[in-house]
Amino acid sequence: MTHEQAQKISHEVQILVVDDEPLMLTSLSRLLSGAGYQVQTARNGTEAVRHLETSPCDLVLLDLMMPGLTGHEVMDRIQAKKIDTLVIVVSGDVSIESAISAIRRGAYDFVRKPYEPDEILKRVQNALASRRLEVENRGMAKRLRRSEQWHRYLVNSSLDLIYSLDTEGRFTFVNNAVGHILGLTKQDLLGKHYSAIVHDEDVLGVAQLFNERRTGERSIRGVELRLKRTNNSQLHSLKRFVPVELNAMGMYDNDGAGQRRFVGTYGVVRDIADRKRAEETIVYQAYHDLLTGLPNRALFQDRLAQAMTQVKRNITRLAVMFIDLDKFKFVNDSLGHVAGDKLLQALASRLRSCLREVDTLARMGGDEFVLLLPNINESSDATLIAEKILLALQQKFVIDDHELFASVSIGIALYPDDANTSGNLIKRADIAMYHAKNQGRNNYQLFNYTMDAQESGRLTLVRDLRNALEHNEFEVLYHPQVDIPSGQIVGLEALLRWNHPTHGLLSPASFIHLAEETGIISPIGEWVLRTVCGHAIEWRDAGHPLVRIAVNISPQQIQKPDFADKFLGLLGEYQIDPALIGIEITESTIMKDVENTALKLRKLRDKGVEIALDDFGTGYSSLSYLNKLPIHTLKVDQSFICGLPHNTGHLSIVNAIATMARGLLLRLVIEGVETEAQLDSLVSIGCNEYQGFLFAQPLPPEKAAELLQRNHAERRIEVKVAAQA
Ligand code: C2E
Ligand code: MG
Ligand code: MG
Repeated sequence: MTHEQAQKISHEVQILVVDDEPLMLTSLSRLLSGAGYQVQTARNGTEAVRHLETSPCDLVLLDLMMPGLTGHEVMDRIQAKKIDTLVIVVSGDVSIESAISAIRRGAYDFVRKPYEPDEILKRVQNALASRRLEVENRGMAKRLRRSEQWHRYLVNSSLDLIYSLDTEGRFTFVNNAVGHILGLTKQDLLGKHYSAIVHDEDVLGVAQLFNERRTGERSIRGVELRLKRTNNSQLHSLKRFVPVELNAMGMYDNDGAGQRRFVGTYGVVRDIADRKRAEETIVYQAYHDLLTGLPNRALFQDRLAQAMTQVKRNITRLAVMFIDLDKFKFVNDSLGHVAGDKLLQALASRLRSCLREVDTLARMGGDEFVLLLPNINESSDATLIAEKILLALQQKFVIDDHELFASVSIGIALYPDDANTSGNLIKRADIAMYHAKNQGRNNYQLFNYTMDAQESGRLTLVRDLRNALEHNEFEVLYHPQVDIPSGQIVGLEALLRWNHPTHGLLSPASFIHLAEETGIISPIGEWVLRTVCGHAIEWRDAGHPLVRIAVNISPQQIQKPDFADKFLGLLGEYQIDPALIGIEITESTIMKDVENTALKLRKLRDKGVEIALDDFGTGYSSLSYLNKLPIHTLKVDQSFICGLPHNTGHLSIVNAIATMARGLLLRLVIEGVETEAQLDSLVSIGCNEYQGFLFAQPLPPEKAAELLQRNHAERRIEVKVAAQA
């Protein structure tokens, strides 16, 4: 300590000098004041006590023998009133008893009178240094107490269970979290062995964890285990175990000889039930279809792989069924997706009710389900289930007050009979399902190898189709539409043909659906339109008579958001009057999305594009939307014509359609007229336009142009002859 520091401290130090001898009092207080201390005086014991009770004082220099209260009595008061000060006795009483009784009463030092000034200053300094140390220690102890309280608070209010174990593995400390995590009190646990709370199945595995002797980085971190929980825990009263994560460390002290001694372990146990639940949800979602709660494709494949291994071991069979809801699109389109979803849920639970516990029903997406029947003996075991399913679906479903009947098409493939990999097995069940669809739906089909041959034929066709545009294998034929009274060609329908390198000339019926399924229809459709525009320009430039040309449009084409703009843009590119081009669409195309299709059609109509409803009579034939849509023409499907004139039922249908068309001011074109007799019966009910082989086959462009030229020339001659007559 520097001299200045000592000065400063001594200035702050308060000393009380107590003596009944005035001379003594003055000399002592001078001596101390001279040394820089703050000095107060008291001439007797009573005065001294009063002073001490009212003002802080670091040190008392106390005479023992005084009239009234003696020095000993003053010290008794100091002790009784717990006054915080040090006492140095300065006394002429030199008897040993007096000194002992002073020390017993808490005196710090004893100075004999008469004193040596240096001696007494030294004693005073010593006493004050010791007092300073004591004050500092006391402060430190207080701070320590506070910080310990703070840590105790932190430990006890921690949501994690914090514990320590002795070397035998018995609890020596647990914090409050023991209540909410395990439903126990501290007393339940203290002194108990840790194994009492560990799940029986985990006890063996965790022995080392709770006896962890390592510290620092090498201690146990993040090990998961289960602890037992008493049922009185309110939070999780139903669960008997709580999953926790354990971090544990060894504890050591020094044995005095510089050796580390293992004294137990401490650790932190975190309740990870919430995290586990979240993990479970994620895992559940990864393996289940959320709409129906059924396993999804991934889980199905897992189970299938397991079941296949079982089959190999036990020499039995298993079956995979591909189940597809028939005409689900119709439900979605007409009742909306919410009703569609409800139907899928109801269907899932009805399918499940037909199954055994061991069977796995999964949803592959959309309206496709797959079913795994492990461990069957014969294909008849599988067909029996298929029959059960078809029977169960004869009962109606009630969805939002609508009564619906749902049927399914089922394809069945057996392992190991039909395939030796899970992928092929599912694929073959799928192929069999397609055959069930082709058989008119609502039935099941067992896979056989002829189906596969057809399927691989289909795949080759898709591959060829992809190349067809590039190889320039498509062409467009034109089929005339004729006005019956005048015999004049009033329009042409553009019909696509595929010149397949090995199969020859293919009609769209054999490949359009493939082109639609694979999306190749869009570039093909564009190609058709460009080709038609090209021919139209050619004919115009050659001075041929021009009639409107109708182009068939697929649902996939019209569903593209920019369909109308692209269509009009293309006509603009060729500088063709939109009134010269028409489109033909089917009712089902419109029904896929009535609102949006209507918007696009209106856009086309406003520019003059004629819109015809193709194959009319085979679909919904609903009057209600005909009004709302910008349609100019109805084309009656040829299936109503082929039976004429004998099929009177068909004739009356055509008659009804004709009447309706007249009422709605729609143009009516009858398709597929092959005989004069058919034509006559149509004329008899007032139809005046048709398209059919009776007039001409679909023709290549040059032939079509020629026919057009001739037809119009004849017509001119006819008109001239009529005028002359
Ligand atoms: P569609 O639009 O109903 O075309 C009429 C079909 O009936 C044509 O068959 C035509 O050759 C046939 N047909 C016309 N008159 C008679 C007849 O008197 N007797 C018989 N038996 N048949 C007749 P095609 O050319 O095979 O076309 C079939 C379907 O393919 C078309 O039906 C149309 O929906 C579709 N299609 C044709 N070309 C295209 C195209 O460029 N794009 C799209 N997306 N579809 C097309
Ligand atoms: Mg057509
Ligand atoms: Mg048609």
